[in-house]
Amino acid sequence: MLEIADLQVELDADAGLVRAIDHMRLTLTRGETFALVGESGCGKSMTALALMRLLPENGRVAGGAVKLDGRDLLALPESRMREVRGGRVSMIFQEPSTSLNPVMRVGDQIVEAIQAHTALRGAAARAKAVDWLKRVGIPEPERRIDDYPFRLSGGQKQRVMIAIALAAEPDFLVADEPTTALDVTIQAQILDLIRDLQRERQLGVLLITHDLAVVSGMAHRVALMYAGQIIEVAPAAEFFSTPKHPYARLLLQALPDAGRRGEPLAAIAGTVPPLWLDFAGCRFAPRCDKAMLHCAGTPPLLTEEGPQHQVRCLLYSQPGEALPRATAQPKVERAQASGQGAPLLDVRDLRVRFQLKAPLFSHGLRHFDAVDGVSYQLHAGRTLALVGESGCGKTTSGKAIVQLLRRQAQISGQALFDGQDLFQLHGPALVEARRSVQIIFQDPFASLNPRMRVADVLEEGLIALRPELDAGQRRERLLNLVDQVGLRRDALQRWPHEFSGGQRQRIAIARALAVQPKLIVCDEPTSALDVSVQAQILNLLRELQREQGLAYLFITHNIGVVAYIADDIAVMQRGRIVEQGACADVLGQPREAYTRTLLAAVPRLNISAS
Ligand code: SF4
Repeated sequence: MLEIADLQVELDADAGLVRAIDHMRLTLTRGETFALVGESGCGKSMTALALMRLLPENGRVAGGAVKLDGRDLLALPESRMREVRGGRVSMIFQEPSTSLNPVMRVGDQIVEAIQAHTALRGAAARAKAVDWLKRVGIPEPERRIDDYPFRLSGGQKQRVMIAIALAAEPDFLVADEPTTALDVTIQAQILDLIRDLQRERQLGVLLITHDLAVVSGMAHRVALMYAGQIIEVAPAAEFFSTPKHPYARLLLQALPDAGRRGEPLAAIAGTVPPLWLDFAGCRFAPRCDKAMLHCAGTPPLLTEEGPQHQVRCLLYSQPGEALPRATAQPKVERAQASGQGAPLLDVRDLRVRFQLKAPLFSHGLRHFDAVDGVSYQLHAGRTLALVGESGCGKTTSGKAIVQLLRRQAQISGQALFDGQDLFQLHGPALVEARRSVQIIFQDPFASLNPRMRVADVLEEGLIALRPELDAGQRRERLLNLVDQVGLRRDALQRWPHEFSGGQRQRIAIARALAVQPKLIVCDEPTSALDVSVQAQILNLLRELQREQGLAYLFITHNIGVVAYIADDIAVMQRGRIVEQGACADVLGQPREAYTRTLLAAVPRLNISAS
């Protein structure tokens, strides 16, 4: 159905010519889900944009063909391509807030797609649009159809995007991270919908994602990309059971899960190389644990290593002498804090209430209880995971503990930290508490001030919360901090934009550690990161906990991360804790129906990479 032949895509960038896709070949048959996986910047999304002919202005196809049922899409006049786009081929984009028209009701946007590509008109088209909204899980579709996009949550906008893409009844769907912004239960619903449509309509799906668990549940075949090239293609089951490329193996070993508790995750050293470089040999060589002497000078080709299984690696086509390398790290035993004795943090009946603006001409104030009577305990050296879907109150309860909501919300209940109620503190006692309880945010791009050098970012907290330190002592502390989080010392003089996402998250961790806290609230600290970078950050957090006895309140929706790092778990729903206990008990034998629903919706990767 789809054949990508020798596709080359180039982009003009400040640093020079970027070869974003380098001689890509793949084929996709009707009714097949083909997953394109890889970390940020490997060329997955650029492939989708190239085949839809939606490349950014600085990009162009430098060679190759994209054939749909034998017709080269790259050679079509734009007017014909417009018919194909949204008709025979639909695309679900990653970012719903910029993909919907903000001044058009959502129903009209779906009806537009239906009328452009099917015979339905007027009331029939509107009824079909309501039906699509229902199928993608929008509650009260008859009412929501007349809403403008700004009235919808991020997840709902994504579902509307999916409805628009499917409403044209395409033959072929390009889904670029279609469920990344969604909660697991909605994600499961959308993935089921795509699977159903695929069976009904023999839909071909090119699924682009970094979520390997989603891939294992959806895809028939998988292609792994690295630095603009496909480096392994295989049937999905084979890819997950016997990956051949060293990068594929490391990626699978870097995934956190219960089976890897107590040992460091596989860390893939280094980062993806910039694509303006001229590569003399294997692009993965500087990071490869199996690199051989000739890898740096010989570019590997994609070769057949089994039926439908191709690999780009010299280990298979030209084996040679291995590079000398350091011996493997010994397995580190997890220092298990007991959870006995007085808790470090004892939260009792925490309630967080936000006042809402009353609608015009109405009387009285309205309010919203984001956290509604939550109690838990956290001991030094242990990790408590707060899990639940967006809007369940997990982040709000974390922010309340770090005293970030004192002005915006009414807070009641107690948060006893080392025996003192955090909510009753003022003056020097409050400063001391702020020092002891720190937070790491989800988005390392938004949480660092772009106008401050790293040294200033780290020193700011020290000046405010450790005024007794003089300039020399602060300087020494900064050097220690960058050592601790694995950054080079020259990082102190650089600006946040000079760092990758993972490095920025290390800076954020260093900022939290600067004032020697006892408790860190980790608010989705790895959800914006690639798998290999996530592994590095989780390893770092675990090591710091072992060395310094830190307690973590770990807020996340990623059950794999929870199973790997948490000692205890509290499941939240609509502002309340519905179940809590030891991690293994809650994940292994959940008692509450909601916990079971949540866990059942989580895509799983039940493999153990060799
Ligand atoms: Fe590693 Fe060499 Fe294979 Fe590249 S070609 S992945 S460096 S073994």
